[in-house]
Amino acid sequence: MPSPNTTAATPFDRPACTVHHEWGTHPVVLICEHASPYIPRACANLGLPEGAELNHIGWDIGALALAQRLSEELDAPLIAANYSRLLIDLNRPLHAPDSIPTRSDTWPIPGNQAIDEAERHARQRLFSDFHGAVARLLERRQRLGLPTRVVAVHSFTPTLNGVARPWELGVLYQDAHDYAQRLLLSLDRQGIHVGDNQPYQIHPDEDVAVPVHGDARGLPCVLLELRNDLLGDERSIDDWARRLSPVL
Ligand SMILES: [Zn+2]
Repeated sequence: MPSPNTTAATPFDRPACTVHHEWGTHPVVLICEHASPYIPRACANLGLPEGAELNHIGWDIGALALAQRLSEELDAPLIAANYSRLLIDLNRPLHAPDSIPTRSDTWPIPGNQAIDEAERHARQRLFSDFHGAVARLLERRQRLGLPTRVVAVHSFTPTLNGVARPWELGVLYQDAHDYAQRLLLSLDRQGIHVGDNQPYQIHPDEDVAVPVHGDARGLPCVLLELRNDLLGDERSIDDWARRLSPVL
């Protein structure tokens, strides 16, 4: 973890994350690392054209809206990031080469090409603040003996490098085999085209939520990936929340 320099001015003008329903009663704790496309004005949009951050490179389109609906429906805590993943990717370990991505998809990120030590520390502070908040919540629940499952909510693009990704929803996991299989079976029974560890696989060098907050704590943990063209409006998001709530 970086040693935060609390006296240095940074462009980061809001907290790293927002906690909703902190004392929610449901066993599921939701996290949404790619919830926001927000880049502070002082960062000059990292040299990207205006609005580029609203594209999927900047955030997971629809993921926060779905996570909030689930949090409401279940009365489940939700920890959601307040900054774009272009500043620092909260689901990448700090040692990953694309923790602060120099390119994303086909876009070079000019503002990430040559950042100095102070800027790197300020970005890494967003990471440690977010994951510190998740850790505190989970540790408190474990101290209180509350049953807890961790569900990270993400979205993915319908195509990658010209290849169609047919799944409507992917359940990604490593140790939480039983929980994941139960989810996959329930969703399959609803007629949903589910991916078992698709469209990605979890890897400790490329992921944080599942290995750190779930598997290392012995908590059942999955990462849900929804195809973002299925989260285009409020009604679709409500439909997904209705399908997912009873099975999580
Ligand atoms: Zn994501």
